[in-house]
Amino acid sequence: MIQYRINILVMNIQITQICYFLISISFVLLCLSCAGKTGDHVETEKEWTVARKKMVSQLCAYRIKDEGILAAMNKVRRHLFIPEQSKPSPSYAYGDHPYPIGFNQTISQPYIVAYMTQCLELKSGEKVLEIGTGSGYQAAMLAELGIKVYSIEIIPQLADHAREVLKAEKYESVQVLTGDGYMGWPEHAPFDAIIVTCAPDDVPQTLIDQMKEGGRMIIPVGSGFQRLDILRKKDGKILRTEDVPVRFVPMVHSTPLSTNAPAKGK
Ligand code: SAH
Repeated sequence: MIQYRINILVMNIQITQICYFLISISFVLLCLSCAGKTGDHVETEKEWTVARKKMVSQLCAYRIKDEGILAAMNKVRRHLFIPEQSKPSPSYAYGDHPYPIGFNQTISQPYIVAYMTQCLELKSGEKVLEIGTGSGYQAAMLAELGIKVYSIEIIPQLADHAREVLKAEKYESVQVLTGDGYMGWPEHAPFDAIIVTCAPDDVPQTLIDQMKEGGRMIIPVGSGFQRLDILRKKDGKILRTEDVPVRFVPMVHSTPLSTNAPAKGK
């Protein structure tokens, strides 16, 4: 009888130890999964690729039909253009919405990038001026399409970041200028196309002057309510079409002393 009681006691102690062991394991696993959610989880290239493919299939559903644009969106590693400190997860970096890139600016939503590019009806080898480099993502997209890109960004830190990522990702056909887009880039004008990714109150005449004959421009216009305008230069005249309502950051004016002189060594 005594032996029987001792056996029961030993069994109880063992069961208690097993329970403690299982509780500890669960606690460690819980901690690890929480750490992943708070940013310690390092995504694999495969996870980013899966998210990118999902983004592209969504664009197809939104009537982006240009095969070249879809292929380019599938190739450009959008998450690398978002600055480190923003730390997006794959679903955020490739979700169909703008994403903060610092300095109160955003990387445009994938659909808008694809849509504006599609409207420009670009051909490989053409020369395009972009106003508002931001993260450099739109410029990379254009480069992927075989375009020679001249991109202007007014915030020096963003221009530097874009230059670094574009270089690391080997987009050698993109030149980034730290400067004011209202002045355009006269040294490289005229351009086959101009894409403006910040909104002025009206289309700057300087940019119209820098369009080639047969050239196109896509530009968000307005403060408060904005819409995309598409301009074409034909026989020296401008044909202007009003397109869809949009929401972009404003195209700001620089100080009177600023120039568009390229920064040293860039
Ligand atoms: N095309 C970018 C998104 C641009 S957000 C991308 O792919 O990430 C708009 C950008 O326009 C911001 O970075 C802002 O600093 C810039 N900007 C605003 N006013 C400008 C101006 N006058 N000249 C050049 N860039 C300007």
